[in-house]
Amino acid sequence: MTKQTSILIIYTGGTIGMIRDAGSGTLKPFDFGNLYTHFPVLRNFDYHLDFQSLDPLLDSSNMTPPFWVKLAEVIREKYDNYDGFVVLHGSDTMAYTASALSFMLENLNKPVILTGSQLPIGVIRSDGRENFINAIEIAAAREDEFPVVPEVAICFDNMLYRGNRTTKFNAENFGAFLSVNYPPLAEIGVHIKYRRDLILKPNFRGLVVHQELCNQVAILKLYPGITPEAVQAILNTKDLKAVILETFGAGNAPTFPWFLDLLKKKIDRGIHIVNVTQCKGGTVEMGKYETSAELEKIGVIGGADITTESAVAKLMYLLGEGYPREEVSRLLQTSLRGEMTV
Ligand code: ASP
Repeated sequence: MTKQTSILIIYTGGTIGMIRDAGSGTLKPFDFGNLYTHFPVLRNFDYHLDFQSLDPLLDSSNMTPPFWVKLAEVIREKYDNYDGFVVLHGSDTMAYTASALSFMLENLNKPVILTGSQLPIGVIRSDGRENFINAIEIAAAREDEFPVVPEVAICFDNMLYRGNRTTKFNAENFGAFLSVNYPPLAEIGVHIKYRRDLILKPNFRGLVVHQELCNQVAILKLYPGITPEAVQAILNTKDLKAVILETFGAGNAPTFPWFLDLLKKKIDRGIHIVNVTQCKGGTVEMGKYETSAELEKIGVIGGADITTESAVAKLMYLLGEGYPREEVSRLLQTSLRGEMTV
């Protein structure tokens, strides 16, 4: 007899489980309590579903690395007992959490599918019900005894994306996420059409959970007219270890001597500066223009087509692991979990 597929649903908060506070009128997370009371339709699944709430429940704008550790810890503890995991999460920082989990969960051989919604599940037109059901179906999908999606992914608005390739780009539409530099892993219509050629393959090694995350990173977004004071304010952040430099186009930045000098001084003192483009699509090509060749010369690291969300998570992970400087630099230019095209 084949074993019933079992899925653990981990609720972290977010709009999907929010209700309107009668007093203030704002949306606040509430505790689902009994899953089947809120989602009687789930009884129709032929899977064994368990439910666990994290404490405290968060509006995901309050997300922090220690909460990611807590989430990864639950997955580690329950890894052998379930065939897949669905993480209910606010959409605001879902791309960051998905990226962080992808780095923290090395040798992941089971699906970890994040989903949420733009409208609370209790609202008649909510997108939450469909997203939730699709996420369960995908977390449970198996072929020849193996999970179809053994990676961290985001399921939203009938699309499945690699988690560390996503960005939340729309606060209004049900299609809140984009993955411009990597095609969807699946499209959900009458059938769920998986792109097996794009999905990571299981490696059958034991799960390793990395729990040390270093948040001594900062983002420096460039804009015409940026002042030395503004650049210094970021670069002089106490205990800073790495900076994500959000550049223009294919990785270009001003060639003003003051700007390059400020960056170079920090690089010479051991701070990693990673070049990530402000564009949603496309890649950093250091040296294509004179305006990026200068960055390359002073030791800025090219981030290729990684998203800012993924770069933040990757830096926190690499710095947390305590790798030597050269190794951090090498790994930043290496795709570890399918997060970049190199
Ligand atoms: N503010 C909410 C959150 O990220 C929005 C959402 O769930 O979509 O938790």
